[in-house]
Amino acid sequence: MNKQRIITLKTKEHQGEYVLYWMQQSQRVHYNHALLHAIDHANQFDQPLVVFFGLTPSYPDANERHYHFMLEGLKEVKGILEHFGVNFVFKLGSPEKGIEPYLEKASLLVMDYGYLTFQKIWRKNVWDYTLHKGYKLGIDLVDTDMIVPVRVASDKAEYGAYTLRPKLKKLYQNFRDFTHLPTLKNKQKLSFESDDHLKDIDRLVASLPIDHSVEKSPLYRGGYIEANRLFFDFVQRKLNNYKNSNDPSLDLTSKLSMYLHFGQISSLEILDKLMLASSQGHVDGESLDAYIEQLLVRRELAFNYVTYQKGYDAFETMTEPWAYQTMEAHKDDFHPYVYTQTELEQAKTHDPYFNAAMMEMVHTGYMHNYMRMYWAKKIIEWSSSFKEAYETIKFLNNKYFIDGRDANSYTGIAWCFGKHDRPWTEREIFGKLRYMNDKGLERKFDIKSYVNRVDTVVRKLK
Ligand SMILES: Cc1cc2nc3c(=O)[nH]c(=O)nc-3n(C[C@H](O)[C@H](O)[C@H](O)COP(=O)(O)OP(=O)(O)OC[C@H]3O[C@@H](n4cnc5c(N)ncnc54)[C@H](O)[C@@H]3O)c2cc1C
Repeated sequence: MNKQRIITLKTKEHQGEYVLYWMQQSQRVHYNHALLHAIDHANQFDQPLVVFFGLTPSYPDANERHYHFMLEGLKEVKGILEHFGVNFVFKLGSPEKGIEPYLEKASLLVMDYGYLTFQKIWRKNVWDYTLHKGYKLGIDLVDTDMIVPVRVASDKAEYGAYTLRPKLKKLYQNFRDFTHLPTLKNKQKLSFESDDHLKDIDRLVASLPIDHSVEKSPLYRGGYIEANRLFFDFVQRKLNNYKNSNDPSLDLTSKLSMYLHFGQISSLEILDKLMLASSQGHVDGESLDAYIEQLLVRRELAFNYVTYQKGYDAFETMTEPWAYQTMEAHKDDFHPYVYTQTELEQAKTHDPYFNAAMMEMVHTGYMHNYMRMYWAKKIIEWSSSFKEAYETIKFLNNKYFIDGRDANSYTGIAWCFGKHDRPWTEREIFGKLRYMNDKGLERKFDIKSYVNRVDTVVRKLK
């Protein structure tokens, strides 16, 4: 493993009884550098390994749809880990508290890296707790969800994809650093109690004191196995046409964002497998480049954004000065259409393309990238203020998308307000923010077939 993935927060001062990995962001076994690091150390100390997962009922903005998808993945993780002799402890409650009883006797705590504010706070709280208690374990933080860890790629907020791209292209081969997980030598079963309800996920989810207003997706199922099935389907049927994937009517995208969001699949594994397919001559070069642009450059730009843009999730602090100036200049423009959040959410607008996108989002938990841009731009156009539009977009995005509440969510939304974009020709309502309209969709794509496809899917699901 490239050592730049690891940040040592505390060096080990004693030999405890086991190695402890707190799994939080990277909910998988395959291509998990944090797990690899934990197994390596358990083998080095000849100690057993404990993987801890804490399920908080108050994860910010999460509802039944998100919990269900996540737990489907965790059920698989538990099965695989136990099969390989790892102790898996699953506890209900806030993870940074739930892990406390397991710290004192650990030799080493391994944490996977999380980029959002509250993920950083959780990790810092655990670190502070061990210092406060005077515990003597070591603590390592391992970045396993980025191909190139953000702080290694750049030490500042990047202006756009064009400034980050050359940095990533120079570095990423050094981070194709995963070969295999070593076998755990000490398979001692420790007598830790687990709140183990993972056998029946429907029941577990129904019993949790969480927001039940959005049901699980009837179309998308969580977990590494399903992520792989979608990946292979993508490679076989879609990849060679990915260069045309901007067209929402064609359904050429991979649908992997929700699995990446929960860390159920690693972007590095996807990259390695694509490179392998390409080396065997199966892949159209232009399409491969287009996919890598999204998976590596766009995705890692989003994580650069949440790392360096203070207040990435607040209207007042999420975009560029030129964007705020133009929004201020156009704040009193006349809006021919204004819809309430409920009208938008219920897809009751005059625009069939927006309505279709909204229905896809509400009923399935997914929407095509181009339609996400269009959808958000329309909310800006039909809201009485930019701030209200921002709040509505963020709320609906995080409520319905399975991949919501991600670095990509905050960056994608900020992009609609000028971040990582440039000023365009000035016009009513939008000022210099990029504008999108239905005529553009009709000119570029067979957009009616997108509407028909969503309609068919949604009717089947109802
Ligand atoms: C308004 C708006 C809101 C968005 N909200 C989210 C969100 O909540 N969660 C989320 O994960 N993405 C979000 N995106 C980014 C993007 O739309 C999705 O990542 C993409 O549509 C996921 O579909 P896919 O996996 O089939 O993509 P594919 O086309 O198959 O791309 C492969 C992977 O590349 C990455 N990627 C693709 N497009 C982008 C992009 N524009 N920016 C960054 N990374 C990208 C994703 O990790 C994706 O899984 C948003 C974009 C916009 C404009």
